Amino acid sequence: EEKAYQFMVRSRIPGGIVTADQYLLQDDLTNRIGNSTLRVTTRQSFQIHGILKGNLHEAIHSINTSLLSTLSACGDVNRNVMACPAPVASRAQAQVQEIAREIAFHLAPRSRAYYEIWIDGEHSHDIEAPGEDEVVEPIYGNTYLPRKFKIGVAYPGDNCIDIYTQDIGLIAKIENETLVGFTLVIGGGMGTTHGKAETHPLLAQPFADVTVEQALPVVETIVTVQRDYGDRQNRKHARMKYVVEERGIPWFKAEVEQRLGYTLANPSPVHFHELNDHLGWQQQADGRWCLGLNIVNGRIKDTGTLRLKSGLRAITQEFQPEFRLTGQQNILLANIPEEQKAALEARLSEFGISSNPDDAGTYRFAMACPALPTCGLAVAESERLLPNVVKQIEGDLQALGLADEKISIRMTGCPNGCARPYMGDIGLVGRSKDIYNLYLGGDTENTRLNTLYAQGVKTAEIAPTLLPLFSFWKNERQNQEGFGDYCHRIGFAQLKEKAAAHITI
Ligand code: SF4
Repeated sequence: EEKAYQFMVRSRIPGGIVTADQYLLQDDLTNRIGNSTLRVTTRQSFQIHGILKGNLHEAIHSINTSLLSTLSACGDVNRNVMACPAPVASRAQAQVQEIAREIAFHLAPRSRAYYEIWIDGEHSHDIEAPGEDEVVEPIYGNTYLPRKFKIGVAYPGDNCIDIYTQDIGLIAKIENETLVGFTLVIGGGMGTTHGKAETHPLLAQPFADVTVEQALPVVETIVTVQRDYGDRQNRKHARMKYVVEERGIPWFKAEVEQRLGYTLANPSPVHFHELNDHLGWQQQADGRWCLGLNIVNGRIKDTGTLRLKSGLRAITQEFQPEFRLTGQQNILLANIPEEQKAALEARLSEFGISSNPDDAGTYRFAMACPALPTCGLAVAESERLLPNVVKQIEGDLQALGLADEKISIRMTGCPNGCARPYMGDIGLVGRSKDIYNLYLGGDTENTRLNTLYAQGVKTAEIAPTLLPLFSFWKNERQNQEGFGDYCHRIGFAQLKEKAAAHITI
């Protein structure tokens, strides 16, 4: 008798845009053949956990009939393309979301196998399955990429998609409400391996400016350079960030230019002044409204009086909103007419769901990867643990009068870094059961890596380790600087000295 293997099925959702019907299908699948919860990922897609092998065909087939796909949401190919999901503020913003779609479909694998296995040989809605005699995989070739590949598109000034963690980040250039091109950054990535010094997180570096027409060919060419030069011997060293780090931007650019047959403009300076989580009510350019809801760790489930899953289902059936998934695992309900706002709020509160982002408290900028029990790579808890840790931190911040400060806290159950823990004010990376490495000194806008402050911190010691640092920050901060900025300015040597003296007192 075969073992009851179970799987996670992740959808590919460029820019995190989902129709009401597509949402209802995902919700249905979780009830029928999943573990009754749905998870918004840190790359703006949905994951369904606990699907038994015998139900895989039904899951993938029906996701495709809903006009989404799972093709290239996993594997050594370009993964889900992120884009700022905020509702259309202008035509230019819609174009930012459109380019994410174009890149996703352009870089999708062309293999017929996916269609033969999951869609009974039929064409998908968005990609023509190749004919029998066509060259298979014109971009990926016979061996695909050395490792996964990640792309994100940002709206100017708003780093909600963590642009510096992407293999390729495109930052829109907008003049007079018109999209005129992109500034590209390349070579970012989070994953590391404990004890392997040659693996480390890296920030994407400025690469080039491109016009709107050049964007797709340049992105494709960058992918082919990684295809040809990425490390195929050592998977832990196979991401494009190591090619960029070891060969340098000038070499990489010359290689891309030579393949393209033209030179690329130098990159414009880029400034991100905020991490906008797009929560709460915001008016769209067309006059309708969008409501951003905080979803703890992206997990949609019913718990006690917070009946998030039932509530979102009822609201979707009733109001038919468009869903926009964010890179912080939250949900925006878009296209709500003015006259329905009050009714929608009332329905939400019937299910215990708050529309006020302040109610999320310190958890507003916190996120955790799934880790135990569903992720096979996890060595420590993350999603099940972070709410407790944040509760303690929140209590300490309240006691210090710092409860209204914006602090990002990210936790993962292994160094792979799915919740991007090496960015942000506080990063917690699982080392083994109940033991974490604590990273500090990043920034809330996610433009700087945090660094290792304390190794092997026990769960119970996380909040007590941070507490003295919060009080130093409160007393010594300059110009309302954030916690990460403060730690970065003071430096870890001095912080540790102060913390040790504090404990002695
Ligand atoms: Fe799993 Fe590690 Fe990713 Fe967490 S960071 S989901 S434990 S691979």
